Amino acid sequence: MTTGIYVHVPFCRSRCVYCDFFSTIREEMAASYVEALCREITARRHELPHAHVRTIYFGGGTPSLLSPALLRQVLETIYEHYDVDADAEVTLEMNPDDWPFTVSPCKGEDVSAARDDSDLTALLHQGTAGKGRFNRVSLGIQSFDDALLRLVHRRHDAATAIQVVRALQHEGIDNISIDLIYGLPGQTMAQWEHDLDTAFSLGVQHLSAYALSYESGTLLTRWRDEGLVREVTDEQSVKMYERLCQRAREAGFEHYEISNFARPGFHSRHNSSYWQGLPYLGFGPGAHSYDGLRTRRANRPTLDEYLRGPIPYDLEVLTDDELYDEAIMCGLRTSRGIALHDIEHRFGPERLLFLMHMAEPHLSAGRLILDCTSPSASSSSASHLRLAESAIMISDDIMSDLMS
Ligand code: SF4
Repeated sequence: MTTGIYVHVPFCRSRCVYCDFFSTIREEMAASYVEALCREITARRHELPHAHVRTIYFGGGTPSLLSPALLRQVLETIYEHYDVDADAEVTLEMNPDDWPFTVSPCKGEDVSAARDDSDLTALLHQGTAGKGRFNRVSLGIQSFDDALLRLVHRRHDAATAIQVVRALQHEGIDNISIDLIYGLPGQTMAQWEHDLDTAFSLGVQHLSAYALSYESGTLLTRWRDEGLVREVTDEQSVKMYERLCQRAREAGFEHYEISNFARPGFHSRHNSSYWQGLPYLGFGPGAHSYDGLRTRRANRPTLDEYLRGPIPYDLEVLTDDELYDEAIMCGLRTSRGIALHDIEHRFGPERLLFLMHMAEPHLSAGRLILDCTSPSASSSSASHLRLAESAIMISDDIMSDLMS
């Protein structure tokens, strides 16, 4: 059995106005946090006893706020207690303003002065005592427009983001992903085109692009409710998404998930395993785990309790209906689609019949497509059911039609 490991690092220098992820600006807790994290990683090593680890993902928050020594401590604890594949994908999420060679544009502070550059680049190059190393970096760039970056309280500017991509490439990191957001308040199509121009000119291997969403409790949502910013229209958002898909295709990127694009061979293995329903372990407050069968674990998002221990968490046992719905949602998000043999194997022939019955109107209208295992196969031997690219913008409606 294979598994993925997610490590949550809940620290941010400041809060972006649209973000509702669990994180805190109490960076001074980092060392004691890493102690607690390593305790959890060690204590849960028997949960998936025969699994070998294919992917490790440090997400947040802002994992790149941890010092190289603390990152190394976490990575070494994982390698010590888990059976990690020699070619595991090991990702570090990073904000451009954390790169040691840059000067923070917001406060004018020299970040390099507080960090040991050679240590971080060593962690990217050689890893931890000959064991694991980060071989993939995911950069939270979001936009290459300085005014929009300032508006949403990002700490970097476009020039810094570009400089960091170049620096990572110079260091030999050949698996770089960047995140962009479209539909920012007041964002024009010309600004989005500029973002896409810049993104595809950088020679990165992976792009994740998300429509801005207004989450409850965020500063951005308050601004909108007070009339201080205006949402882009659905029409504008659809146009931006369509342009994104077209530009990615022209640049040779595969559109392998609704919001994810990659050069061939560079799909995110970690995120793909979520969409395939594989088991994973999540460490840190707010992190989720899944046993690959029907039990989900959610660590509670409370830093103080986490530091004190024992780790507070909730367990949820999913019903067949919930598992089926999840298989539909995850499958339709990907370009591969829903594996029909998997639906039959896990939920029985009647559920497969139900699925095909509900899919029929969408198949007739060309919104869903049946793929066959061999080019000559008939529709009765179809192996996957997937969304037509033209139907991605109404994927929520189609998913809900197919769900139990
Ligand atoms: S978007 Fe990232 S950096 Fe900004 S507050 Fe959220 S987790 Fe922190």
